[in-house]
Amino acid sequence: MKLNGYNGEDLYKKPRNEMVENQLVRRGITDQRVIAAMRLVPRHLFVEEALGYKAYDDYPIPIGEKQTISQPFMVATMCEQLRLKGHEKVLEIGTGSGYQTAVLSLLASQVYSIERIGPLLFKARKVLESVGIHNVALKVGDGTLGWKDFAPYDAITVSAGGPEIPKPLLEQLVDGGKLIIPVGNEVGQVLEIAVKTPGGIKIAENTPCTFVRLIGEYGWRENGN
Ligand code: SAM
Repeated sequence: MKLNGYNGEDLYKKPRNEMVENQLVRRGITDQRVIAAMRLVPRHLFVEEALGYKAYDDYPIPIGEKQTISQPFMVATMCEQLRLKGHEKVLEIGTGSGYQTAVLSLLASQVYSIERIGPLLFKARKVLESVGIHNVALKVGDGTLGWKDFAPYDAITVSAGGPEIPKPLLEQLVDGGKLIIPVGNEVGQVLEIAVKTPGGIKIAENTPCTFVRLIGEYGWRENGN
C-alpha cells in the first residue's frame, strides 16, 4: 500500500502510529488493510495547518463551513465494516476534508465522492492530488440522490447523519453490496449497515455516534427538518 505523492515520513509519524494503536487497535479494529491505510494517510494535511497538531487526537475537528473531519475511530469502523478487498467501486457521501476519501482510495479500486459544499470539495481535491491519489472522482451535489452515472456500487458510505437511509442509495447498490450510514435524530445517531440480498435489504445497527446533518432531498432540510 502506498501513496505516489507521499512517503509517510513526516513530523507526525509518531502521533499517527499512536492514533492507530491507541484509538483503533485497542478498540477492536482488526482489518490490516484499514490499519495500514490509516498508518499511511497524512491526516494533518486534511485540516488547517494551524490545527495540524490536533489532527491525530480522538475527536472530530472543524474544517470550516461548520463541518468536521470525522473522528479517526469512526473512519476506521465504517471502512472496516464495508469489508473492502481492493477490487470495489465505492460511493462516498460527504467528502468533507477528503480524509476518508483518501483512506478509501487505498482500500478500493475506484472511489466516487460527493460533497454539497463547493469550497470544501475544492480544498479536498487539492490535498488528494498533492499526495498522489488519482482513483477518486469528486463532485459537488446532493449525495442523498447518489451518483447514477457510475452506479451500481459495491459499497456506499455516508459521513453525515440522516433521519433514514436514502432510497436512491439502496437502489444504486449491487446485489450483495453494503451501505453504512449514521441514522437517527440531529443530536445522536447509530451506524446502520444495510446489505442488499436477493430476499431484500437486511439492516443491522451498531455503534452510537454523532455526525453533522445529512442535508438533502432524502435527508434533513437545510433550515429545520
Ligand atoms: N469523512 C469526512 C472527513 O473525513 O472529512 C467527513 C466530513 S463531515 C463529518 C460530513 C460532510 O457531509 C460535510 O462536509 C457536509 O457538508 C457533507 N454533507 C452533508 N449532507 C450532504 C449531502 N446531501 N451530500 C453531500 N455531502 C453532504
